[in-house]
Amino acid sequence: MPRRYYLETLGCPKNDVDSAKLEGSLLTAGLEATDDPSQADLVVVNTCAFIETARQESIDTILALDELRSDGTRLVVTGCMAERYGDELAAALPEVDEIAGFSDAVAAVTGRTRGSSIPVTSAPIPELDLLNLPRPASKVPWAYVKIAEGCDRACGFCAIPSFRGPQRSRDVAAILDEVDQLAVHEIVLVAQDLASYGKDRPGELGAGAIVPLVRDVARRVPWVRLLYLYPSDLDDALIDVICETDVPYFDLSLQHVSKPLLRRMRRPGDAARFLSKIETIRERRADAALRSNFIVGYPGETEADHDALLEFVEQAQLDWCGFFAYSREEGTYAAALDGTVERTLMDERLAELRACQDEITASRSDALVGTRVRVLVDEPGVGRSGREAPEIDGIIHVDPALAPFEFHDVDIVDALGPDLVASGGVPS
Ligand code: SF4
Repeated sequence: MPRRYYLETLGCPKNDVDSAKLEGSLLTAGLEATDDPSQADLVVVNTCAFIETARQESIDTILALDELRSDGTRLVVTGCMAERYGDELAAALPEVDEIAGFSDAVAAVTGRTRGSSIPVTSAPIPELDLLNLPRPASKVPWAYVKIAEGCDRACGFCAIPSFRGPQRSRDVAAILDEVDQLAVHEIVLVAQDLASYGKDRPGELGAGAIVPLVRDVARRVPWVRLLYLYPSDLDDALIDVICETDVPYFDLSLQHVSKPLLRRMRRPGDAARFLSKIETIRERRADAALRSNFIVGYPGETEADHDALLEFVEQAQLDWCGFFAYSREEGTYAAALDGTVERTLMDERLAELRACQDEITASRSDALVGTRVRVLVDEPGVGRSGREAPEIDGIIHVDPALAPFEFHDVDIVDALGPDLVASGGVPS
């Protein structure tokens, strides 16, 4: 009986890709997946270390799985917490059999030491990432594809470059191979700083390499979607190529809009520039969908900064927004800044922004009632149009009889907050 593994993934879509790569290696090493940790010979937790709440969730999950595992089952912890806290984490969690950073993850879970190449790839596994390893077929009709690892920026609140390292862009051929092998209907391109793809390889790829890459992927799959677009790199060429596709979806990583506060975050831009970019996008595609994320309570945030963000949210009328409480991260620029915002005030501001955005999201959903849209059915009864990214936006409730993994044209008959309700369905 082959050995069985249970793999738990926490954190962001980039971690989902890392887990898929680990699964590729586990399956190649002859193990079988189980969704019951008590039946597994190997339990793997792919952790997140971005902010305090994510770290707490990682530790809670590790301890819960330690309880659930059977005697003799090996417990391996990998991912960002393992990379960022290595020995410290091992000392804090003696129940864990192995803490393995990115470059040791495959060896830790397959028991294959570095140097013994995994049969499916001849090249030694490059340092600090799993990027070019194979992965199993997707269980859903879409998949995340990570096009680069690491980040060369220095946003004041962010520790990611300290443990994911500098940006390393993958070869175009390796990315397109993976897209072909996945054979899904929708590819979601991800990286820490997606629009900077290629900048770290000036001779081979260069700045702007994301544009031909999107075109190449769009020739291979019906839908290509981009997440994590840094505002200053979203230039006309990139806006155009996204607007050329069937998914004019823009995930703008803005974080704030107040100029003085953005500079304190060591980030570019301001409300006026962001509004003008949004206007440019909507001039090119009136049906473009826009999402953004904002940090609330960054050190030094004033009432005026907060009011500027509230006003921007009103004016921008984005389809989707995430608002996150600032989390002080050891080793970041912001950790040493004065002007701490009290938690109660942070929560007040978060509640005000979320209430404002919920109304906007609901009214933009309401405006779609009576229209016909093309949806990809992810599972019986659940679909998404180009306007909804997987796992982070709303969904479209469709007729459960519509075939999953297929496109259908449906009629929107109702809106329920962020979600839509559709009737009918013609394959398309
Ligand atoms: S772009 Fe900024 S927020 Fe994003 S990973 Fe890089 S440093 Fe962190």
